Amino acid sequence: MILLDGKKTANDIKLEIAAVVQKRKKEGKKTPHLAAVLVGTDGASMTYVNSKVKACQKVGFNSTLIDLPEDTTEEQLLHEIADLNKDKDIDGFIVQLPLPKQIDEQKVLMAVDPSKDVDGFHPVNVGKMTLDLPTFLPATPYGILELLERYKVETSGKNVVVIGRSHIVGRPMSILLSQKRNVGNATVTLAHSRTHNLKEITSQADIIVAALGIPEFLTGDMVKDGVTIIDVGITRVEDASKTRGYRLAGDVHFESVSKKAKFITPVPGGVGPMTIAMLLKNTLLACKNRDKK
Ligand code: NAD
Repeated sequence: MILLDGKKTANDIKLEIAAVVQKRKKEGKKTPHLAAVLVGTDGASMTYVNSKVKACQKVGFNSTLIDLPEDTTEEQLLHEIADLNKDKDIDGFIVQLPLPKQIDEQKVLMAVDPSKDVDGFHPVNVGKMTLDLPTFLPATPYGILELLERYKVETSGKNVVVIGRSHIVGRPMSILLSQKRNVGNATVTLAHSRTHNLKEITSQADIIVAALGIPEFLTGDMVKDGVTIIDVGITRVEDASKTRGYRLAGDVHFESVSKKAKFITPVPGGVGPMTIAMLLKNTLLACKNRDKK
């Protein structure tokens, strides 16, 4: 069993980005600048945003955190987004999801200038991705492609099962892996909450991407020998033995599945760090795109 080490791979990517940034600075080119908008005080969201800001510092990007209160109105948030769209120094920005109930998420995502949409969530960028045109790929699926590529996991002609059809992970993952691309050309099945006989389907899979958010859902009896496992899930599970009171659990029962797997991602330290590295990669791309303007 080979562990797909997302932490190490993400670090390698960050070093590569840092070298590019340093070169840009020497050449007098613009320093990439990422902004993150956080609304409210959700614990997990605060952790994610802080990690993103810290990652910017590590690679030499400028970063701005816009921290708004829980009771921010939709109008106020749209106003902030309009300012970020106009701000010439900001290359890309993200609005951390989920948003409080009074705000329509779709309206907010639609308001982001597609050229600054480094999360790749705007319909224009989703459309470009679907048509295999150059764009910002959503960071989590992009990170998975990168991990598979760097560990030379063959995807061409393989049976891939993606569990979960969310707009940010499962669906784009299924599209990307089915495309004619370096890491792609797979025969993809997209499974979801209405899928019948999931075990029969996963037992045929050469590669499984689990992105459903149910801790330890995929067990050893559901997979075949030699399978590659990508565990996207991150759920906080109560654990009194930890000082913070919880542990992070993936969607895969690691103990039983890892016995049969050829490659497997750990949680934490697998897909999570890759997601942040690819957000940085998208921000660098946004900055380079602006060089040409
Ligand atoms: P979501 O919660 O939006 O959707 C869950 C999906 O799982 C749905 O499409 C649903 O149909 C499917 N599903 C639910 N129960 C199922 C079942 N019994 N069988 C088959 N399919 C089922 O999903 P999301 O936002 O993609 O998040 C999934 C998990 O990935 C969560 O734990 C989330 O925290 C995590 N996540 C991690 C990263 C990362 O960077 N590592 C990024 C995004 C999300």
